[in-house]
Amino acid sequence: MRFRRSAVALAALALAASPASLLAQSPDSVTAYTAAECPPCAEWNAPQRPFRIHGNTWYVGTGGLSAILITSPRGHVLIDGGLPESAPLIADNIRALGFRLDDVKLIANSHAHYDHAGGIAMLQRWSGAEVAALPWSAAVMRTGLTLPEDPQQAVALPYPAVARVREIAPGDTLRVGPLAVVAHRTAGHTPSGTTWSWRSCEDGTCADIVYADSQTPVSADEFLFTRSAAYPDGIRDFEQGFALLERLSCDILLTPHPGFTQLFERLTSREGGAADAFMKPPACDELVASSRARLARRIADEQKRGG
Ligand SMILES: [Zn+2]
Repeated sequence: MRFRRSAVALAALALAASPASLLAQSPDSVTAYTAAECPPCAEWNAPQRPFRIHGNTWYVGTGGLSAILITSPRGHVLIDGGLPESAPLIADNIRALGFRLDDVKLIANSHAHYDHAGGIAMLQRWSGAEVAALPWSAAVMRTGLTLPEDPQQAVALPYPAVARVREIAPGDTLRVGPLAVVAHRTAGHTPSGTTWSWRSCEDGTCADIVYADSQTPVSADEFLFTRSAAYPDGIRDFEQGFALLERLSCDILLTPHPGFTQLFERLTSREGGAADAFMKPPACDELVASSRARLARRIADEQKRGG
């Protein structure tokens, strides 16, 4: 997401907010972004009741930002932490389902922007969980400040630094008790966007679930995917990610912004009796087709801008 209107103020905020001051932010007094800093944040952070997606996979995020809990008797995995101000809502949702926060043993992330990683520092402190990420994401999360390779660097908001982040590699399988989640590098939106996949079973029906990172070529105004010196591999990364997503077994597709896959419409449909509502399209094929078209439009637009 981009917030052109306040880009100057945000750049100043990013400079003023040293890693040390962000680390010092108390996890018990979560500060929300102001409406000027982040116009859509209040709407993204609207409360959302948690619900089961399939088997041991649950939605514990807010009305506009996903957080996914995968549970086992020997510990849980949480993927994404929303905004800093989402952390208390996510924690409440986990408890409302009857799970304990300190049974969350691993926190993973789609990409290291403030709207998906902003709450991770607090959720880690409250749960004691390990945080694991690909190296570029880990570097950003350790400070809460994004880096020059980020297409949105000029407009990305700072967020509380994550104290401990373990670096993983693309293709790694992370385990908590009987749970196994696989990290797939699907970059482009950021240089280490990460898609997560796992299998959940319910009443004898097993589903391969894919939490696909954002595939959108969104950037600050000055950034060009076709001519960036800081991130010259963006387009190749998108294409490799699309090819990877096409190869994944993808019974249920989830995305960091739940509206992207009509998650709540599907929930309504399931509650109306459609047991397989979350298994209906759009799944990975549709996501790749729409993302390829969007990237092609973006490249054409950049070519029109000339050099
Ligand atoms: Zn993003």
